[in-house]
Amino acid sequence: MDGRFESSETLRNKCAACFRQFNRMDHLVEHMRISYHSVHEPTCGICRKHCRSMESLREHLIGPLPKVECASIFSVQGCNLCLNIFESPYSLRLHQGGCQLSRAIPAGLISRMSNLGIQDDPNGRSGPQVVALACKMVSGGSDGSFDLCARVCLVDEDENIIFQSYVRPQNRVTNYRYETTGIRPENLRDGMPIKKVQSKILDFLCNGEPQWTIQSRRGRAKILVGHRLDHDLERLGMEYPAHMIRDTAKYPPLLKTSKLSNSLKYLTQAYCGYDIHTGIQDPYEDCVATMRLYLKMRREVHPMEDYPLTTDGPNRNNFAASRQNELERMTPEEMLEISRCDYYCWCLDYGRMADP
Ligand SMILES: [Zn+2]
Ligand SMILES: [Zn+2]
Ligand SMILES: [Zn+2]
Ligand SMILES: [Zn+2]
Repeated sequence: MDGRFESSETLRNKCAACFRQFNRMDHLVEHMRISYHSVHEPTCGICRKHCRSMESLREHLIGPLPKVECASIFSVQGCNLCLNIFESPYSLRLHQGGCQLSRAIPAGLISRMSNLGIQDDPNGRSGPQVVALACKMVSGGSDGSFDLCARVCLVDEDENIIFQSYVRPQNRVTNYRYETTGIRPENLRDGMPIKKVQSKILDFLCNGEPQWTIQSRRGRAKILVGHRLDHDLERLGMEYPAHMIRDTAKYPPLLKTSKLSNSLKYLTQAYCGYDIHTGIQDPYEDCVATMRLYLKMRREVHPMEDYPLTTDGPNRNNFAASRQNELERMTPEEMLEISRCDYYCWCLDYGRMADP
């Protein structure tokens, strides 16, 4: 076979998103069917390669074995935290001032529960409000094998504490984990009963909407941000609709390349540039870290599409087997054009906020 022909053929079968090359067009079609490439994937600002996660983009740009051409530009004009590229070292420096964050100092509790009522956003923002929740656990059970929620904190977008409380545990505490929680028995003796904590938080999140009617759009209910929220909610004995939850331990762009969760400590260091969980841990600090990560991800600028998700009606047939012939005649760029995301990108919340 003519070598030149072969290389142009493989070039034709090159994925327009991740640049993988295939010997045959039907293999590229199959790849597109299972990859869910989209404009929402973390993308190299230099070569436009799409990556599945921020971690794989980091590998692409910083190493240990980076793409040499991209790495050399990135080292001068790229931000090590958000991995975006800037026009000049000067605009990079301006950006870094806001991207590099420092440890949050609790702003002080205004009043333990005064803010925890049904309310409109005091800042007059429209669209769903966002709150972050975090708990600290102590050990329960005869062998100390299960977590009991002992402290809970809720923080708004501006890092104000909306609610915080010690929680009186329902079971006997076998280990207060004092070195990391700083919690002593007397703290919990006066804690709020868990049932009361539950109903207060849930009333606040639902914000006057019955839980079963919470819609993803234009509702009064709040978006809930956290890290491993399923665990926190389970320990609080609460349920909240999945489409209102933004979990930094589950969000595909924030996963490891192995698709496992990163720790909150790692994510905060890698994307916000500061340390948490050194010494005694305050749930306020976790709330702030997850909120900041959420806001950073939400601010990523991605092109707006009318139907961004692969599950949106008009996209259901895009890569159907019945269209095989038609798909094989498309260019890789055309295929990318009709490919959609298989997860809910947080930038879409930003669009929602702007909605009247
Ligand atoms: Zn690809
Ligand atoms: Zn997006
Ligand atoms: Zn690149
Ligand atoms: Zn940055």
